[in-house]
Amino acid sequence: MTASRPTHEHYTTIVAGSGPAGVLAAYHAAEKGPVLLVESSSLPRYKSCGGMLHRHTLRTLKGYGELPEDIILDPRTVRFRYNDWDRKVLKVTSLELLNVDRARFDEWLTTLLPSNVELVGECSLRDLDDTGESVTVSLRVGGEDISVTCDNLIGADGGRSQVRRSLGVANTATYVTLQDFVRLEGAIEPYFDCIYMRGIGDEYAYSYIIPKGDVAIVGSVYYPRTKHPWEKQDLTLDILRSKMPQLGETVSREAAAALHLRSRSDIVPGVGRVLLTGEAGGFMSPSSGEGISYAVNSGRRAGMAVAGNNPNGALEEYTSLTADIRSNLCRKLRWLPVMESGLGKMVAGFVPTSIVSAVTEGL
Ligand SMILES: Cc1cc2nc3c(=O)[nH]c(=O)nc-3n(C[C@H](O)[C@H](O)[C@H](O)COP(=O)(O)OP(=O)(O)OC[C@H]3O[C@@H](n4cnc5c(N)ncnc54)[C@H](O)[C@@H]3O)c2cc1C
Repeated sequence: MTASRPTHEHYTTIVAGSGPAGVLAAYHAAEKGPVLLVESSSLPRYKSCGGMLHRHTLRTLKGYGELPEDIILDPRTVRFRYNDWDRKVLKVTSLELLNVDRARFDEWLTTLLPSNVELVGECSLRDLDDTGESVTVSLRVGGEDISVTCDNLIGADGGRSQVRRSLGVANTATYVTLQDFVRLEGAIEPYFDCIYMRGIGDEYAYSYIIPKGDVAIVGSVYYPRTKHPWEKQDLTLDILRSKMPQLGETVSREAAAALHLRSRSDIVPGVGRVLLTGEAGGFMSPSSGEGISYAVNSGRRAGMAVAGNNPNGALEEYTSLTADIRSNLCRKLRWLPVMESGLGKMVAGFVPTSIVSAVTEGL
């Protein structure tokens, strides 16, 4: 149910953030009792994204309902292609991703919520106080500050999580991402092209191109604290357009932040009665930037943990339920320095496609 402000003073669970992690957490937490799901943006929310769904996301969501056909774009699937722009090396991998409209996907997720979840938009979590018995949450809604209590709070408020900051847990750095939606002046191949170029400078990580119907997303990722990313994005587009005349004029450009996971200490399941999930907890692939499968998988386990009956509390249950996700992320973190080094990228250009493909599948 969507409401303009919270209707109760106490909820079994409050979830901050209505992305995939927050929606799945709220869905499962509702088995225990009434849930308040607060979202700082207006609804339906919009998240800057490539809109590619990994098979892990599709496998997890299978139990919740059929993905509506009208969220899937043309081309329906895209293959990950490693593209070393300077050396003209292209390697098509076996990793296939479903190509969706992210806004419609997120909106569809909220339709799955049971009726005892109250979804309130334009409502921001400002602070929290965990007394050990319950959590008092300070919210800003309709220009007013209010307090609501809950047995458990789930922070699913993304890479710049306020919940995480209020807990005093070190915040992780964030990448700067820029996405241009460009008009297509001709067909491009059905790939998620991941492009490495050396000419943009050290602050530049990589670019990607994804066809989306009659437009394409040309996105770039810049390391934290990059100066003048807009100018760098202009330069990147000039280089790409010089060899790909199908990339027409920019229809819109958007900037966003994405989690820059660097160490296992960045992954924090929570503190006391407060759980952290999705990007807020550090659950996102540090190597590929793929985050939706981590969000749905960690979010559903956070919801299950608060709905469960662990005598030592939801956090202990959640920490145990997410052990496999944390070890998966730690494995990726170990590989990261090699993958990001100039040497690593050069080697990727020489090794057989089957190996690049296997490594990509694993990452
Ligand atoms: C440019 C870009 C492209 C990407 N492309 C892909 C892709 O193609 N495939 C993929 O799998 N992943 C992709 N990702 C990553 C993916 O989008 C995220 O990892 C995923 O959305 C994380 O889900 P989440 O639920 O943890 O957080 P989010 O989706 O970030 O949701 C957090 C929500 O919390 C809300 N919020 C924030 N603060 C508060 C507050 N104080 N109170 C209440 N609400 C609050 C926000 O408004 C937001 O709606 C991309 C990321 C970026 C930036």
